[in-house]
Amino acid sequence: MKTVSDYFGSLVFDDRVMKAKLSAKVYSSLKKTIDEGAKLDPAVADAVASAMKEWAVEHGATHYTHWFQPMTGVTAEKHDSFIDPAPDGRVLMEFSGKELIKGEPDASSFPSGGLRATFEARGYTAWDPTSYAFIKGKTLCIPTAFCSYSGEALDKKTPLLRSMEALNKQALRILKLFGNTDVHCVKTSVGPEQEYFLVDKKYFDQRKDLIYTGRTLFGAMPPKGQELDDHYFGTIKPRVEEYMQDLNEELWKLGILAKTEHNEVAPAQHELAPIYSTTNIATDHNQLTMEIMQKVAARHGLVCLLHEKPFAGVNGSGKHNNWSISTDTGVNLLTPGETPYENAQFLLFLCAVIKAVDDYQDLLRLSVATAGNDHRLGANEAPPAVISIFLGDELTEILDAIENDKPYSAAEKTKMKLGVNVLPKFQKDNTDRNRTSPFAFTGNKFEFRMLGSSNSIACANIMLNSAVAESLKVYADRLEGVDDFDTALHDMIKNTIKDHKKIIFNGNGYDDAWIKEATEKRGLLNLRTTPDCMPKLLDKKNVDMLTSHKIYTKAEIEARCEIMLDNYSKVINIEGLTMVDMAKKEILPAVEEYTADLAKSVAAKTAAVEGLSCEYEKELIKKLSCLTDSIASATEDLEHALVKLKTVDDVTEIANADRDEILPKMGALRAVADEAETLTAEKYWPFPTYGELLFGVR
Ligand code: ADP
Ligand code: MG
Repeated sequence: MKTVSDYFGSLVFDDRVMKAKLSAKVYSSLKKTIDEGAKLDPAVADAVASAMKEWAVEHGATHYTHWFQPMTGVTAEKHDSFIDPAPDGRVLMEFSGKELIKGEPDASSFPSGGLRATFEARGYTAWDPTSYAFIKGKTLCIPTAFCSYSGEALDKKTPLLRSMEALNKQALRILKLFGNTDVHCVKTSVGPEQEYFLVDKKYFDQRKDLIYTGRTLFGAMPPKGQELDDHYFGTIKPRVEEYMQDLNEELWKLGILAKTEHNEVAPAQHELAPIYSTTNIATDHNQLTMEIMQKVAARHGLVCLLHEKPFAGVNGSGKHNNWSISTDTGVNLLTPGETPYENAQFLLFLCAVIKAVDDYQDLLRLSVATAGNDHRLGANEAPPAVISIFLGDELTEILDAIENDKPYSAAEKTKMKLGVNVLPKFQKDNTDRNRTSPFAFTGNKFEFRMLGSSNSIACANIMLNSAVAESLKVYADRLEGVDDFDTALHDMIKNTIKDHKKIIFNGNGYDDAWIKEATEKRGLLNLRTTPDCMPKLLDKKNVDMLTSHKIYTKAEIEARCEIMLDNYSKVINIEGLTMVDMAKKEILPAVEEYTADLAKSVAAKTAAVEGLSCEYEKELIKKLSCLTDSIASATEDLEHALVKLKTVDDVTEIANADRDEILPKMGALRAVADEAETLTAEKYWPFPTYGELLFGVR
């Protein structure tokens, strides 16, 4: 029997394969490009391409694709076959360095937010050699960045790589100040925990809302939801277990370090977490994971729902972005060290994150904003839309001691002065308070918990890396060249704590009192919806920061703002239209049929037995008739509003109207339809119920 170590990474053109297939000279030159970003020699590219093709063909590949991540947040690919006609009528399998490095997928239909005029609609892809090529089906997939003719980023990967570079640059300046001259490169790592739902395909196929929008737009709560907490970490049902095993195998072949899996809080909800890796690789892997989760589900007669809020009334799905910064010498900069200097360095990086999260609350919030995630943030199970940092009591006490020049614990007699004290190792605090925090320090990393389950993790990490790069830049600018480094450092840390402690909150983030305190007393932002937060992207402070670190150009920022708002509106428009369609063609006829049968039964009964009152039926007929009137008028109301919005051009205006008019009208329609569901005999109801969806996988 094949063991995992036999097939792990078998579909990846990874370091092992490169070493085996490339000459020593080509290999070392490619390694230089991968590790240090050195420019790639065209001759080396040709040799790599040829080895890659040979390996891919050996593994059954016939095509190759430049695999990229357009601004829609999904992945895209256009397959080209390797075949090249030979003069004798046969074909050769060819793949050149040029084809490896650069592609022209055209792809002019992807949203560009005005970055491409149609006459130069062509987009270009460029190889990202730091993320390994892999085989999917019969296709060699080459991870790439996607740019316009004039070099603007049309994807999520380019700005992600730029943000990693910005952070690297600033972190190296700081490390130098601490005498770490052996460090050549600093990278961020991410381990994204992915939540998802599994439903039976036979039920999914009968629901237009799931098919068109990925979430249920109607559905009354079943008698049982998640109140017993009996699903969380519960035994995994055999069918789900088979799915998870199959999924793991597929992921392992692709070199994805799928590690833990368990049931989540809601019925039918599960989680998968990989072992963390370098951010751009983790991003590629998470995109692939989401794709493969769906593919494997189909093989098991299941559908994997990645929507943030597939069911009202039960928990939604998020993604926890575990993030840390480490050096090429293997030091995690978010871990306290053994010496006072290491600890001062740790505190400085910690402060850089605190300052970044406080200064750029808006960017972090909008980096996770989608129509889907709006249902989750601010609801009961997810972190609130207000961003705060959980540090735990111990670390908070230390910061407090530094700020106020006082001893940090009863045992410690000396005042907390940097460069003197040895810090304790911080254990991960696993209290409930921690779990309600949108941004929690968990011992040696931060866990950003606001991401939606279907989000690409690229956006969140772009903003996080950029904001921390900015803090580090401010620090480096201040500290480089000072005479008394220790004092300057101490003052800077102290000032950061003073200025930014308002973002630190160790209490219960789900508590309404916190939202009040956060917004009223502390002045933190509470950006509840996508149209609330997206325009902040264009605020001068944000544009200045992002352009100064060369993460985005101004045009790229404007394009993204427009695309995100436009996507929000399109999603809500599709949802609204789907509701209208389901109400008119399925719900109203079903309730009507049941009411008519009730009426028939009253007639039959009274004909059979004179003087029967048939109160039950008559009462029900009355209620259902009222409800059908309400459903019909709510449907009409929603439909009118949707039609009216078609005449508006401005993306911001449309998004605001979606938030203020369409969503409430959708809610109103749903309320009456769900009530009708509770009164209608099950066999009349036109599509599977919440009970079947949530408890139907056995
Ligand atoms: P949980 O949050 O469920 O308790 P863990 O804390 O063990 O689980 O890990 C969650 C995720 O964090 C995993 O994907 C893990 O690989 C990742 N992780 C662990 N250490 C780091 C680190 N230093 N940097 C980034 N991610 C990390
Ligand atoms: Mg977690």
